[in-house]
Amino acid sequence: MSKAIRMSRTGGPEVMEYLEVEVGPPAAGEVQIRQEAIGVNFIDVYFRTGLYPQPLPGGLGLEGAGVVVAVGEGVTTLKVGDRVAYAGHPIGAYAQLRNLPAALLLALPEKIGFDTAAAMMLQGLTVHYLMHRTVQLKAGDTVLFHAAAGGVGLIACQWARVLGVTLIGTVGSEEKAALAIENGAAHVINYNREPVAERVRELTDGRGVSVVYDSVGKDTFLASLDCLAPLGMLVSFGNSSGPVPPFSLLELAARGSLFVTRPTLWHYVAERAALEAAARALFGVVGSGEVKIAINQRYNLADAAQAHRDLESRQTSGSSILLPHA
Ligand code: NDP
Repeated sequence: MSKAIRMSRTGGPEVMEYLEVEVGPPAAGEVQIRQEAIGVNFIDVYFRTGLYPQPLPGGLGLEGAGVVVAVGEGVTTLKVGDRVAYAGHPIGAYAQLRNLPAALLLALPEKIGFDTAAAMMLQGLTVHYLMHRTVQLKAGDTVLFHAAAGGVGLIACQWARVLGVTLIGTVGSEEKAALAIENGAAHVINYNREPVAERVRELTDGRGVSVVYDSVGKDTFLASLDCLAPLGMLVSFGNSSGPVPPFSLLELAARGSLFVTRPTLWHYVAERAALEAAARALFGVVGSGEVKIAINQRYNLADAAQAHRDLESRQTSGSSILLPHA
């Protein structure tokens, strides 16, 4: 048996129920893990509200870290006692115990703790593909990164510093501005108080930036296009303020033959080799201390609804985790 968050309908945080569920033995190709920490991500909100559909009744959560406690038939890569972490489908990470395909799991280096791993896998693998694969950033590039004090954001600020990239971050408060700067942002713009595109032009001598990373979506989309230099790339990777409404491709021509992409982590780590390479890079920068994972909110698994309330109301900074055995 395992305690887990389940939901039978979409809606507000109140649809999340903390229940006892039965977990059978792992099937062929699966392992069972006792989770020590679970990551909370904005994507969990999209699944809870129904913006992203999933079959119901179901669970929530896509990221965790723990210890292998049982191994299904045919699994040769992992054994009982191994420390592992993961980010990815199937949904259902908000649980004490779960069975997962061995192919999703990564062996966790000794020096990375469970809390850090659960907080960083999804957000860190995301920053890796955004900066190394969607666009291959190089030293000297200048980019705009929205929500720079969030979970993905603080990792992005630090990783940009490692790469020698000038990151202009947007944030919603003065406290978050200080946090983004401390973590490596070269400049910050409070998008609740300052006109973003105008400030970006000032900071770049009128040129604009070559890449905008936009996870806010609806509220920032057009301003993001206005921040780009000709031939620049808008990487629209989230919808925290709502999905981007339909727009005319002529908007891209008018602003300088711009590019737009709407990527998702899962496509970038679908091949095991790509997942391992990205994880190696992430474990490398975190293991060396170049990127520190700021776990600024911790909750008991039973209080997952509160974690969602805090995240959606923009109360949080850095990463949030759930502790399943507290
Ligand atoms: P964050 O910790 O960044 O939390 C979201 C932040 O967005 C808030 O703290 C807030 O910061 C900002 N925000 C702006 N407008 C709103 C709004 N209307 N409602 C709520 N928040 C708002 O979350 P994560 O680090 O988990 O994720 C960041 C984004 O990246 C999400 O949109 C997520 O879906 C996306 N993502 C996409 C992936 C992909 O592969 N496509 C993978 C991983 C994450 P502030 O107060 O400073 O405005």
